Amino acid sequence: MDNSLIDQIRAANDIVDVVQSYIPLKHVGSNWRGVCPFHNDTRPSLYVSQPKQIFKCFACGKAGNVFSFVQEYEKLSFIETVKKLAGRAGISIPAESHTKVVSTKRQQLMEVYRFAAEFFGKNLFEHADNALEYLSKRKFSHQTAKDLGLGYALSSNKALLNHLMKQGFGVSLLKESGLFGEYSGALIDLFRDRLIFPIHNNTGDVIAFGGRIIEPKENTGKYINSPGTELYTKGKELYGLFKTKYNISKADLSIVCEGYFDFLRLYESGFTNSVASLGTALTEDQVYLLNRFSPNTVLLYDGDPAGIKAAVRAGLVCLSRGMKVRIALLPEDEDPDSYILHRGAEALREIVDQASELISFMAESPLLEVSEKERIDQILDALRQLHDPIQRELFIKEVSEQFGISQNALLSGLNRGRSRYQEETQSVETGGTISQDSQEKMVLQLALKDKESYNLLAHELSADYFNNRLYKRIFEFLQKRLQAQAGFDPAALLDNTENTDIRDSLAELLFEDLQQVKLDQLIKDLKLRKLKRDIDDLDKAINSDPANLELLKEKEKLFRQYRNTTKRVVNKVLF
Ligand SMILES: [Zn+2]
Repeated sequence: MDNSLIDQIRAANDIVDVVQSYIPLKHVGSNWRGVCPFHNDTRPSLYVSQPKQIFKCFACGKAGNVFSFVQEYEKLSFIETVKKLAGRAGISIPAESHTKVVSTKRQQLMEVYRFAAEFFGKNLFEHADNALEYLSKRKFSHQTAKDLGLGYALSSNKALLNHLMKQGFGVSLLKESGLFGEYSGALIDLFRDRLIFPIHNNTGDVIAFGGRIIEPKENTGKYINSPGTELYTKGKELYGLFKTKYNISKADLSIVCEGYFDFLRLYESGFTNSVASLGTALTEDQVYLLNRFSPNTVLLYDGDPAGIKAAVRAGLVCLSRGMKVRIALLPEDEDPDSYILHRGAEALREIVDQASELISFMAESPLLEVSEKERIDQILDALRQLHDPIQRELFIKEVSEQFGISQNALLSGLNRGRSRYQEETQSVETGGTISQDSQEKMVLQLALKDKESYNLLAHELSADYFNNRLYKRIFEFLQKRLQAQAGFDPAALLDNTENTDIRDSLAELLFEDLQQVKLDQLIKDLKLRKLKRDIDDLDKAINSDPANLELLKEKEKLFRQYRNTTKRVVNKVLF
């Protein structure tokens, strides 16, 4: 694909718009800021610069331009990313470019799942009277089934297999998809005569399926799921999030339920900021995902003791991520689906509105089977994982009020169990840069300001002048890239940089603005440092070979250069 097309696609996709379609951003100063999706965090460390069209996370260091963001987020190849963003901007890519595209395994699997989901969806409305009847018996509308892409797996061993083979998918790829079992050497469909729930990632691609039997059968599980693949890891996704993430963000609140049907009912009844955790206990990954759209959540689990226990456990995971979590309590024999059916959406709305804060729920609820001491320990365990000291203290205050225990006692309990992990991460965070490094860094930063500065740098220095290995490699990279490029576009520098160390550091350099320092001054300083290093090396060589006159002459030459350079230097350089 030629560079001018890539430039055009980059220019048509504003980085703030694109990043905002994945994570919420807020305007701060001249930048935009949000919670980084590339590391586990609750604080907004990811900055996006609109003028420079780049992003940078100041916690994990991930950085780049609009292509790198989408590429990393969706785990695509560079070409796939360019195609995706071209589509977003309505730019068509010439046909010849398509032929060169080699798709990744991930992308191929995604195609299999996309075709399978289409096939299941079509079957539901054309060949599945039993499944449609089942849905209407449970009072779900066809519209909901369509919205969530529900489907039906035919009662046949080979229906999906034959359909996908006809589309040209190879047997080995189909085996890897996990959608088939092997029966005496032949592939057979994993899902047969089941209602199908496609599971989407939060950008809307189908990456797994759950299947529910329609008539109870002996020796047959009520639910089966497609296995983990390169696309899908159990416990990482939230069912329905692709449909409800914008509403969660807008309402600044999510409602978490457990099952597919709970979610369908909530969604159909207007609770369009819901998600389902899908059978497993809510995981840290899921909480992390949820927290990206809003830090506020209500857990709406079944009303029986098992449901309450699961809700508290999930609540503690949310708490450990700093979320504000409340627990909504249903009557003992109800789940969200049945409650709405029996009492209506308004009654459920009340239950959600009246949900209690996790800590007060844990202090007061007579339904918890564990002792007060154990409950406090559970909360302290969660708070220990919370990195923000202010948040931690606010929660301690709340625990103190709710349980009637002094803050001092709670704090000493909290510190007693402080994990080694926290001490380790704290010691890593301290550590400075030496002044030579920062000087080399500043030179690169200034050189990235505009084409003129870069030309000055390229003319005056070579890679040898850099002592820091990373900066040396960045300089070499810039030499290659900038020589070939006519214009000077900071974001363009970050296209398709295979080496992510270089890309992240480059973006960091681009992000910071330095105005006060003069480039020529810095170049001089760097030259002096280089001379000093060369003279030191020469001294060592002379020590081991004192009779070598060539070395002594060389040293004299360097010394002269050194004196000439220092004469013109106004600022002092510290060695
Ligand atoms: Zn990050």
